[in-house]
Amino acid sequence: MSDNFITIALSKGRIFKETIPLLKAAGIEPLDDPETSRKLILDTTRDDVKIVIIRATDVPTYVQYGAADMGVTGKDVLAEHGGEGLYELLDLHIAQCKLMVAGFADKPLPEGRVKVATKFVNCARKYFAEQGRQAEIIKLYGSMELAPIVGLADCIVDVVDTGNTLRANGLVPLENMFEVSSRMVVNRASMKMRNATIKSMLAHIAKAVEAGK
Ligand code: AMP
Repeated sequence: MSDNFITIALSKGRIFKETIPLLKAAGIEPLDDPETSRKLILDTTRDDVKIVIIRATDVPTYVQYGAADMGVTGKDVLAEHGGEGLYELLDLHIAQCKLMVAGFADKPLPEGRVKVATKFVNCARKYFAEQGRQAEIIKLYGSMELAPIVGLADCIVDVVDTGNTLRANGLVPLENMFEVSSRMVVNRASMKMRNATIKSMLAHIAKAVEAGK
């Protein structure tokens, strides 16, 4: 957190591309393109706003500790983080997908202990526990679809958009856990100290979200 400017944490790729038109409504346009520049801190058309480029999964951590005042990240990432130290203030309705349990169409999940491969270990543990189902959660960092094929797990928990990745690997969606979209999160202390600026920024962004629906 700085006295002089507000820092917004964004990740490269889809979230950046889809958030930029929304920030524009609040007069915020980055002066560099993170796809071509290696800069991690971008100045913007507003003297009082900077953008930092970090991994989507790191956004809640930066905002929680006040290293960024605000940030944009998926509901999946937020749910996995737990949301400690931050306010989730706005659904941006971008980067929409679903967190799902996926497996084989012709092979029902076992009645007893289910082996689940995922990078969303907290979400998976909570989901199966809430349903009173026993689950062994196996943490992976990528290529989750491979796990059921090679017999590492009965199913996976992953984000699904078109379902093409599942299909390409002979898997199908089995259970819909929750809908995912990107959210604007704000550090709790920043919300207090910079209330007027942040509220006005959020109001402009919210209007752009409504207009884009
Ligand atoms: P799909 O369109 O279902 O083939 O999605 C392809 C892959 O893209 C998924 O396995 C995810 O890893 C990733 N993906 C799709 N949509 C999102 C999103 N909104 N946020 C994060 N990852 C996504």
